[in-house]
Amino acid sequence: MIGGWQLLHDELDRWSDAGRVADFWLRDDDAAEPTAALDRLLDLTGDYAVPVTLAVVPAFTGEALAARLARAQHALVAVHGWAHENHASGSEKKQELGPHRPRDVVLEELARGLGVITKLHGARVIPMLVPPWNRIDIGLVPELGRLGFEALSVFGPPKPAPIRLVNSNIDVMDWHGTRGCRDHAVLVGEIVAQLKRAFAGGDPVGLLTHHLVHDEAVCSFMERLFEVTSRNGVRWRSPREILAGLPRP
Ligand SMILES: [Zn+2]
Repeated sequence: MIGGWQLLHDELDRWSDAGRVADFWLRDDDAAEPTAALDRLLDLTGDYAVPVTLAVVPAFTGEALAARLARAQHALVAVHGWAHENHASGSEKKQELGPHRPRDVVLEELARGLGVITKLHGARVIPMLVPPWNRIDIGLVPELGRLGFEALSVFGPPKPAPIRLVNSNIDVMDWHGTRGCRDHAVLVGEIVAQLKRAFAGGDPVGLLTHHLVHDEAVCSFMERLFEVTSRNGVRWRSPREILAGLPRP
């Protein structure tokens, strides 16, 4: 066992010694249509029976993805904004759901997005909004329930919100450096830190991936993680199961 992975084994031993089971979940962003990269993700997660929640871009998806997912019973679908279009100015961080456009326009897009995704994917849908770039104008959040959303998923620690939050907290990608996988030992260290928070009542481990840009190092990291967690009694859950355990605000 090299480097960081031993720390993960040790932490999971601590959970099992305490008679507890750690929850993990997996969110993968930016799906719109079937691709070889999506096949690889679905095959890998399928091999380990890991439920994968695809955040799908409503404006650019269609029947082809629905047909592909019909052969992937472990795939769930959430709503990834509307068109993944940036409306912020050049100096700002990218946002589709920011304060740059009239609220009604943005809310209408989100309602349409949920409608498109529900029509295409039926029972596979989790009525959960995944804002593109993990950003949403805080003023829009109280309106999501009336549009039919039951949850919101961004990145980072939980915050008080008028809707249930199922956040991701471990991002495998090195967006600002190599644009490939981050260092495996660093990722394992973050997972162990999140497990310690979860042990004390914090959020489960929420792994965030982006299949369209995965390099070999991401795939080997995921495979190793699935191997280790399958041998250590971790539960990979769907957001639906996690939501069921959260109080409604
Ligand atoms: Zn995205």
